[in-house]
Amino acid sequence: MKAALVCGAGGFIGSHMVKRLKAEGHWVRGVDLKFPEFSETQADDFVIGDLRDRSVVDRVIDRRFDEIYQLAADMGGAGYIFTGEHDAEIMHNSATINLNVSDSAYKRNNAKVFYSSSACMYPAYNQEDPGNPNLAESSAYPAAPDSEYGWEKLFSERLFLAYNRNFGMSNRVARYHNIFGPQGTWTGGKEKAPAAVCRKVAQANNNGEIEIWGDGHQTRSFLYIDECLEGTIRLTRSTFEGPVNIGSDEMVTINQLVDIVSDIAGKTLHKHHIPGPQGVRGRNSDNRLIEATLGWRPSASLRSGLETTYAWIEQQVLRNAN
Ligand code: NAD
Repeated sequence: MKAALVCGAGGFIGSHMVKRLKAEGHWVRGVDLKFPEFSETQADDFVIGDLRDRSVVDRVIDRRFDEIYQLAADMGGAGYIFTGEHDAEIMHNSATINLNVSDSAYKRNNAKVFYSSSACMYPAYNQEDPGNPNLAESSAYPAAPDSEYGWEKLFSERLFLAYNRNFGMSNRVARYHNIFGPQGTWTGGKEKAPAAVCRKVAQANNNGEIEIWGDGHQTRSFLYIDECLEGTIRLTRSTFEGPVNIGSDEMVTINQLVDIVSDIAGKTLHKHHIPGPQGVRGRNSDNRLIEATLGWRPSASLRSGLETTYAWIEQQVLRNAN
């Protein structure tokens, strides 16, 4: 039986990854500061522990795993990572986790760690035109991410690849672009745009109003969780080390995102644009490299993922209102 370790197994992507690996028949250990919020973990062994503490990391990496997924990070949506208030924590916490996991994996003779970087590491100067952002993997330098979260991602993807070059590891690096789906954070300040929009639409009365940060013309693409897991596993098991984008290239404006979700909910809503953290003006996944190297690209439509996600968030809203 193959053994896998999922760091960040109490989080959104990590908890889904545990389910996926269990469904494939792996023995799975998860580690996180907390259990998953919205479902019981399916991990065979779940360690509550702080990956900033090297002794905890050495304890969970106590053997040779077939696959290690490093998904733990101090992170959140625009309201968390773009305000500047959490810069020191984000950089310190996530870099410490990555320094510990990369080195502990190496010292335990683990050959391969998958590391989840982010589209936030791309230079801000290529994301000023909402209609034509450039996020080809080769456009990463000269580096100029617009947040400290992005700078830490850039540092850590280089860290994992340096272990490949100097110590013969086979680490894999993907740059995720806005992953969404059921059982993700949907309230409290760390939620991201699709979850925030689903919540606001679910809470609004028909013909009511919905608040949007900025003018709503900023563009993004959003990838459904199942596609993210598929791309991650394909990359991890391939011979390509990355970095490679894992994202959707179905670009929409935030206004269009609101329209799709309103349509799914069967509601007509007036958009009220208010000042708020927005991040870059335009972002879309460039999927040419993943298609060329893995012969695969995400294909599910944004609308189909939003239908499942809206149904789940609407349930949470109704449950919390009672
Ligand atoms: P998440 O916040 O739901 O999960 C991260 C998990 O890491 C959390 O459960 C958190 O408790 C855990 N964690 C944080 N600090 C820890 C510590 N010191 N010790 C142990 N666990 C700790 O985030 P997610 O959406 O599941 O993202 C997973 C990874 O993918 C992260 O590295 C994130 O930066 C990256 N990523 C996600 C997206 C996205 O859209 N979700 C986009 C780009 C990159």
